[in-house]
Amino acid sequence: MAVGPLCQREGASCGACCGLYNRQDLSRAGVERLLRRRTRVLAETPPTPEAFRDAAARLGNHEEAPLFPSVRICSFLGYLDASESRIGCLAHPLSTGGVDLRDCGVYDARTCGAFFCPSHSWLSEEEAEIVAQTCAGDPYLYGLAVTDVPFLRAALQGVARLAGRSVGRRNLDNERFRAALRRLFALKEELTPGSEGLFGAFQAGADGEPIPRMIDYAVLGRGAASPYDEILRCVGADPRSGNDLEVLEDEVRTRLESCARALG
Ligand code: SF4
Ligand code: SF4
Repeated sequence: MAVGPLCQREGASCGACCGLYNRQDLSRAGVERLLRRRTRVLAETPPTPEAFRDAAARLGNHEEAPLFPSVRICSFLGYLDASESRIGCLAHPLSTGGVDLRDCGVYDARTCGAFFCPSHSWLSEEEAEIVAQTCAGDPYLYGLAVTDVPFLRAALQGVARLAGRSVGRRNLDNERFRAALRRLFALKEELTPGSEGLFGAFQAGADGEPIPRMIDYAVLGRGAASPYDEILRCVGADPRSGNDLEVLEDEVRTRLESCARALG
């Protein structure tokens, strides 16, 4: 692990590997409704294995079928604070008041505690801080962004290229820039449902490394690759993903320019 834990950082939290986005309706509103319901039910559940198992079964019965049946969805992922700015495990001893009830979920406590997604080995501390500070208080966007390293890097490089200088966490003190960068990252939540770009980090080859994505510009009647090809590949701007290349390209250009302008 080359970077500090990404799951819970100052201001940012993720629940992607607990199955947060493994839903047909992975809209922000749908995901937030689900988290709210689980949090309410588990707050009323006594912290015992029997009660948590029973609550997990009841919650699971009401949840829609997963998008990827082979990936598990755990009903214990919910909100950790009243303002809904942080998500996390409601069966963890820190949430239950001392009892570890993670064995009652879809994995066991050891698996939950030992798992670190590939972003932990790919992201640098600097990159992790940039995404955490940019998506602070917004676990929905943070989880989508922090699990897609190729997208993050392409976005930061795109800004650097346009601005003519590298982007670092020092730039995040600039509120205008932070807002513009957040808007660039938010491309991830505006893609067509089912788009490959939504699950960028989950497209792994046999060796565990990401499978490079590509846009067939010739088939789309375009002579040359877009100047934003790297980002567009990451968000799945191709017919297979159901996204419109030109619309996305315009959005990418506009959002990159806003970032570069904010940097001055
Ligand atoms: S997907 Fe990665 S960052 Fe997110 S909760 Fe799981 S291990 Fe942590
Ligand atoms: S029990 Fe494990 S899988 Fe379930 S929410 Fe907690 S950490 Fe995630």
